[in-house]
Amino acid sequence: MPELPEVEVVRRGLEAHVVGRRIEQVEVLHPRPVRRHLAGAEDFAALLTGRVMLAARRRGKYLWVALDSGDAVLAHLGMSGQLLVQPATAPDERHLRVRFNLGPGAGPADLELRFVDQRMFGGLSFAEGGAELPTAIAHIARDPLDPGFDEAAFVARLRRRTAGVKRLLLDQGLVSGVGNIYADEALWLARLHGDRPGNRLRRADVERVLAGARQVMLQALGQGGTSFDALYVNVNGESGYFERSLQAYGQEGRPCARCDTPIVRTSFMNRSSYFCPTCQPRPRQRRPSPSSTTAATTASG
Ligand SMILES: [Zn+2]
Repeated sequence: MPELPEVEVVRRGLEAHVVGRRIEQVEVLHPRPVRRHLAGAEDFAALLTGRVMLAARRRGKYLWVALDSGDAVLAHLGMSGQLLVQPATAPDERHLRVRFNLGPGAGPADLELRFVDQRMFGGLSFAEGGAELPTAIAHIARDPLDPGFDEAAFVARLRRRTAGVKRLLLDQGLVSGVGNIYADEALWLARLHGDRPGNRLRRADVERVLAGARQVMLQALGQGGTSFDALYVNVNGESGYFERSLQAYGQEGRPCARCDTPIVRTSFMNRSSYFCPTCQPRPRQRRPSPSSTTAATTASG
């Protein structure tokens, strides 16, 4: 599944290649990716035809292209979605779902923006008046790379919660864009176990894990994003190679780069967590307080 850096790579690709162009024609080849547009695929195509794309924006893993009408096309890549910019003469991809013909623009030949998606968990929707921020995603928190991210507020909110810090990093209402892989990497860098409750972390712990998340995301951006799914290709059709530099995620049994202890895998919310049991010790269970011991004795006796 694409994580935030991959989505940011796609956004930058759109910014570089399609912004400023006019949508000459829209062809919906499969109805599923536009299922959220209740008026149907023809209406979706009609609303977008003739519009000029003014900007490519992102909130967490959602991307949108702002249109000259004040509306937007909102995209989520889901598990296997890709947005490809291709010459119109390029052969259709096997799982091509939606085609936007962008005309020749300043260039000699027609360009196409193509939404390709094998499993179709992702999709495109029309966001009326959503050029600045589509209302459907307004509840999603900013991500740590967003210039508007409020670090002090994030630290304070996380430290009021009793859930484990990994679960909190994956909470889109608190911070967006930190997926399973980046959470494990950030926790490894911060030397924190993911089960450590938010309300028992020091401010410096949270700042360290946030710095770790930023570091690993920026590193991924520099390398074109992770690529665990062979289906993921960025806007120029290139796969990322970031997985070669992961320290914890997917490294079960390999020695920790800091202390040589083999990395451990545990199950976590139907997925996996990877950590170093030496650098990232599990939180100690709180000893029962004298009053709760008394209560237990009373109850059993
Ligand atoms: Zn270690």
